[in-house]
Amino acid sequence: MTYKERMEAYTKEAKRLSHEDNTEKLKEAVRLIMDSERLIIGGAAGLSAAGGMDFMSEKSLKKNFPALSDMGYKTLWQALWDPNRSECQKWGMHAAEIIWARFDYPVIKAYTDLLSIIEGKDYFVLTSNIDDQFYKAGFDPERVFAPQDSMAHFQCSVPCCDDIWYGEDIYRRIYENMDKKTFTCRPEDLPRCPHCGAPAINNVRDFKPFIPKMVMKNKEAFTRYFNEAASHRTVFLELGVGFNSPGLIRHPFQRFTWLYPNAHLIRMNMEYPSVPDKIKDKSIEIGGDLGLALEKMAAVRNDMT
Ligand SMILES: [Zn+2]
Repeated sequence: MTYKERMEAYTKEAKRLSHEDNTEKLKEAVRLIMDSERLIIGGAAGLSAAGGMDFMSEKSLKKNFPALSDMGYKTLWQALWDPNRSECQKWGMHAAEIIWARFDYPVIKAYTDLLSIIEGKDYFVLTSNIDDQFYKAGFDPERVFAPQDSMAHFQCSVPCCDDIWYGEDIYRRIYENMDKKTFTCRPEDLPRCPHCGAPAINNVRDFKPFIPKMVMKNKEAFTRYFNEAASHRTVFLELGVGFNSPGLIRHPFQRFTWLYPNAHLIRMNMEYPSVPDKIKDKSIEIGGDLGLALEKMAAVRNDMT
């Protein structure tokens, strides 16, 4: 099967699953979670998109960033990756995005529903998200491994040292002083390293060179938890993980569902809910609206206790 055929098969199956009555599947998923000894939760962009934090939506751009829409952009994603911007525009747009997505965005209900579904369970979260929603919703920070770190943090671009600092004031200053029509910030507001004066960059894995100090804090604990899961009744609960970086969550979750004798996979995804054939009998595939599915599961859980 070619890549294109595979993606088409995903779309077809996602469409079918989005129309099915998933009540029994959701109940079964909650039962599996309740019965689990180890619960490994993987969360990616689809989970935050379930709360309207959608970088790919034209509607969302118009609502939240009308000036960017006026500039001709269709989605926030398109604006943020436009190679034709000046450095000052790049930082102006970036600041507007971060203030929205990281600092001012309210707690997304999908996360608080998730927290009530897993209440009292032994869990660990693995997330590629950099919006800190897991922390905002009240997940135990010691139980969240976020290897990409967060948009909130800065580091030196050289780097001259391994210092990492919190950037809210920096972003707010950029935003306050920028031209709100063109998103051009003042050159003097461009973030700089307080130690050597070099440009500062976000402490996010996608930006190089990345200082991993902040994110490695929970890595060892997560690895231990993951390895111990081999001999337990383990549930991999995968939420909104697509094909942006499947090597972090999606592929390991399905591989270890297959390898661990007592593991199950719950895959919840609007676009790509299918699992490989060889783990079908150990998996539950849930398509359709992720936020709605979690809301129903929280209600099921509530009825059970
Ligand atoms: Zn420096």
